[in-house]
Amino acid sequence: MSKGKYNAYETAQAQFDKVADTIDLDQSARELLRQPSREYHFTIPVKMDNGKTKVFKGFRIQHNDSRGPAKGGIRFHPEETADTIRALSMWMTWKCAVVDIPLGGGKGGIICDPRTMSQGEQERLCRGYIRQMAKNMGPVIDVPAPDVMSNGQHMLWMLDEYETIHGGSYPGAITGKPVGMGGSLGRREATGYGVIYTLREALKKLNIDIATTSASIQGFGNVAEYAARLYSTMGGKIVAISCWDNTDKKAYTFRKIEGLDIDALALIKDQYGTIDKDKAMAMGCELLEGNEWLTQDVDIILPCALENQLTSETINELSDTVKVICEGANGPTTPDADLVIKAKNIYLVPDFLCNAGGVTCSYFEQVQCNMNYFWPKEEVLEKLDFKMTSAFEAVHNLAQEKGLYMRDAAYVIAINRVVEAVKLRGWI
Ligand code: NAD
Repeated sequence: MSKGKYNAYETAQAQFDKVADTIDLDQSARELLRQPSREYHFTIPVKMDNGKTKVFKGFRIQHNDSRGPAKGGIRFHPEETADTIRALSMWMTWKCAVVDIPLGGGKGGIICDPRTMSQGEQERLCRGYIRQMAKNMGPVIDVPAPDVMSNGQHMLWMLDEYETIHGGSYPGAITGKPVGMGGSLGRREATGYGVIYTLREALKKLNIDIATTSASIQGFGNVAEYAARLYSTMGGKIVAISCWDNTDKKAYTFRKIEGLDIDALALIKDQYGTIDKDKAMAMGCELLEGNEWLTQDVDIILPCALENQLTSETINELSDTVKVICEGANGPTTPDADLVIKAKNIYLVPDFLCNAGGVTCSYFEQVQCNMNYFWPKEEVLEKLDFKMTSAFEAVHNLAQEKGLYMRDAAYVIAINRVVEAVKLRGWI
């Protein structure tokens, strides 16, 4: 998925190198942290419904576990690449560190398209992935979770395989499980709500009333839908939503200048976050093609779908009205686009801070599993808001104090915490 000239891993390393220079990081720490600690690349043979065996390719990459077990999702995508997973595992390390939870960074992926697979084929794929990884993951080693195109059902099949292999109950081995089966209430909302908690705080700093703002969003999957829901509840107006149409194999932007009805759109989307375009048009939405989601005259841009969307080619299409960008997706902005955002003085909430609500709630899920006692949803969301707001404050304050770009300030906090951990452990 590191398409075109942009490679997510190179972006992650470029971001790291820049901050390493800023904080004058020593050579051994740079060498250790600019690459993953461990990588697993493996094949997963799966018996397909037609009787033939198809061999899939899987990855699990553990970037750093000095602050706790590696943590990160397993992505299902036909164009998955090791470099994308490397980048994402690195961002997970910084993400857990910036919100100060005792976990490290990991990520996994399978090159596959679950949209074209039966339930049985998906189950066998999930179990096959765990058979390859069971010895090198678990509650005290590396804890997977759902990610792009994977869900709670996939996680439960994976957990069941893990528990079968290890012969016991290990609910903390995987998070993002269905509620009632070890999952946490609020996990579904957590990432999207977290995006909006940070947006709310950013707007406070800018003295802007959220109820007077409008936004455009890329994606309508788990992150984007709940971000859109909470933002609308707070009085914001979503003017445009872009999502991928798997039949036409292209992205569309759904627009309504007077504001989209998020609840109604959620009812006509499929499980992969694709909005039914015929039904949307019947509801009065305009259907636009291309990069239209980012050219809208809005106050806020919420890239909540993919990496490498704000690039040197697309960033100049942004309207001059945009004041805040909250990166719900991982790695949506390339380093050259960062320069433009900075020059335009747009307030950026960087990805690994902005979308840390998911992993924070996954950590809460592990805590609840360990206690075997589950909190009500309000309590989960209240704790989540507290964690996200505290992390946002720390990053904002450092950025103000040292005159840093928000992404760099978040990196400085996260890298310093991880460097402290590897030094205290005596690794360097
Ligand atoms: P998802 O699979 O639920 O949804 C993805 C959405 O992106 C869908 O609506 C899809 O139609 C849309 N999309 C795909 N290609 C597109 C394109 N070319 N143009 C426009 N839209 C497109 O995924 P998700 O869980 O919402 O994750 C989205 C992003 O957030 C990813 O970068 C993911 O790594 C990151 N993230 C997710 C979580 C989480 O808890 N789910 C946590 C942190 C970060």
